[in-house]
Amino acid sequence: MREPLRSAAANLVRSSGGSRARVARLAYSRHRLAHAEATDNKSPTLQPAQLDPNHYNPRPHQSPFRTQTFTEMPTVTGGHVLQRFFTTNKAWAQAVTNKDPNFFKTLAESQNPEVLWLGCADSRVPESVVLAVKPGEVFVHRNIANQFHPDDDSALSVLTYAIEVLKIDRVVVVGHTQCGGIKASFDIASSNDGGANAGDTPIGRWLKPLVNIAKSHGLTSIGEEHGIPKLTVESVRRQVANVASTSILQNTWAKGRPVSVHGWLFHLETGTLEDLHVDIYPPGNE
Ligand SMILES: [Zn+2]
Repeated sequence: MREPLRSAAANLVRSSGGSRARVARLAYSRHRLAHAEATDNKSPTLQPAQLDPNHYNPRPHQSPFRTQTFTEMPTVTGGHVLQRFFTTNKAWAQAVTNKDPNFFKTLAESQNPEVLWLGCADSRVPESVVLAVKPGEVFVHRNIANQFHPDDDSALSVLTYAIEVLKIDRVVVVGHTQCGGIKASFDIASSNDGGANAGDTPIGRWLKPLVNIAKSHGLTSIGEEHGIPKLTVESVRRQVANVASTSILQNTWAKGRPVSVHGWLFHLETGTLEDLHVDIYPPGNE
């Protein structure tokens, strides 16, 4: 296990004030991660005939929640994808219930997430999977290229609910390598007209702030190999600043709430998180 995931989790707890419950949660996470390291990921591919949930019997030492969920659960090929999902979902729900008969009953009653994850819609960065957490532990908003536009009512609503209702104190913007939205923005900025004729389309309008970052930082002049990684990091830095600039955060800080905003980078190539150290803390708590 590389350090970023652990250090990110540690930072999360460290910056949260380290309450006993949170420290216990970290200890549990470390145990879970250590267990994940020691566990052989190899899992036999099940055949469709074996997918009857009544016959699905996960190995007792393995949790259906861990990062390795996708290797523990049935892998089905062929057939209609939506039908497969109903089959695998039923098996998953049964496996969870077998392990904790009250899990869904408790989950249905309330949620108590401690983190708001603002991430990319990319299918390769599913927050609960890469963090190895259970349903109910991370509040989420995802869109193309993990952006937080100051005029995006959807993102603003999520932020408001997270902070004012769920009382979440940690907001994390998570970029990732090989992001299609970042690549497209870089390409638009690199085009002969600098994106002037990129088209008035939803995706064109959505990517415009990223195109502007690429241009204002002169990233197109250093080429794709270096420019795209820099744009990825600069974007996370900008989104963190955008979140911190909202009236939601400003008002929360004025009331003395220790809400902080963080920027991470998920490396698709290794499955690990990197802390970009672009955090913004309440005034006076930097
Ligand atoms: Zn992406």
